[in-house]
Amino acid sequence: MTCGCCGNQRLPVTYRIAGVKKETEHVTTFTFAVSLGARPGQFVMLWLPGVDEIPMSVANDDGKKLRITFFAVGDTTKKLAKLTKGDLVGLRGPFGTHYAWEPKQHLVLIAGGYGAAPMFFTASEAAKDGCTLTTIVGARSKEHLLYVDAFSSLPRTTVRVATDDGSQGHKGYNVQLLRELLQGKTLRPRSGSTAHAVDQVFACGPEHMLVAVSDLCFEHKVPCQLSLERYMKCGFGLCGNCAVDSSGMRLCVGGPVVKNELARTITEFGKYHRDDLGKKHPL
Ligand SMILES: Cc1cc2nc3c(=O)[nH]c(=O)nc-3n(C[C@H](O)[C@H](O)[C@H](O)COP(=O)(O)OP(=O)(O)OC[C@H]3O[C@@H](n4cnc5c(N)ncnc54)[C@H](O)[C@@H]3O)c2cc1C
Repeated sequence: MTCGCCGNQRLPVTYRIAGVKKETEHVTTFTFAVSLGARPGQFVMLWLPGVDEIPMSVANDDGKKLRITFFAVGDTTKKLAKLTKGDLVGLRGPFGTHYAWEPKQHLVLIAGGYGAAPMFFTASEAAKDGCTLTTIVGARSKEHLLYVDAFSSLPRTTVRVATDDGSQGHKGYNVQLLRELLQGKTLRPRSGSTAHAVDQVFACGPEHMLVAVSDLCFEHKVPCQLSLERYMKCGFGLCGNCAVDSSGMRLCVGGPVVKNELARTITEFGKYHRDDLGKKHPL
């Protein structure tokens, strides 16, 4: 069943996994030979029959193939990681808001953890619009870095890397590199610079990283879009499970990608999230 107003697939359709790539010890990418017409930042609900259905950001949708990249953290994702080429999973969507830019802007993309996957989708689409990109990828150590080579293959793209232990690139958090960039301490990109050193900042990753990005962009008056995650069940605004305090905005339709001004009105942003029963958990 597709939605009358947006055409999104609201019931799962099963697809065979067309490709499996092990990115790191705990991170896997599945490719499906289908396009759902997803935009960068949108998510799909991925159904593993007999186990659960969970939200996953689209890591790429080029009109022919769709990719998702996931971290094996719990019950469903650990079972997903055992699937092989030819196995069936259900997909529905795409759902939610997406990152938005103007042609030829200078975009700074900050990625932490599996956030590198939707950031790569964003970067590859923005590159087609002539944007100049600075991508800052962070991870605990070099073994956990994702999509660095893929970012490097894009035109007009500068790639910076930060690892907590200093095993590759800057030692410390990726947000420190953003701070240096916004303070004008690092070089602007070689080509495509406009009057503004940075037109927009996009971020996807752990919430403490998003809060730091939000604060920096607010301080430097740079427009910013952030991808927020909450417990999502239906994906299209019906169940209310992902409603955030204090507005009650359902993040599956009002998000996951929100502008910084909106993120800063969410009183629980950076403080807590709720589980499937609505119980609060500090972040
Ligand atoms: C919009 C959005 C996009 C996401 N994109 C990705 C992605 O690209 N790659 C990726 O690896 N993960 C992504 N996640 C997170 C992913 O959905 C959870 O890690 C996954 O649901 C964990 O399921 P599990 O059964 O393996 O683990 P569990 O043991 O059930 O849970 C592990 C953690 O995931 C949370 N979680 C469980 N189910 C959900 C749910 N339905 N909605 C939100 N959080 C949940 C739990 O609260 C817990 O913190 C995304 C989440 C959202 C909301």
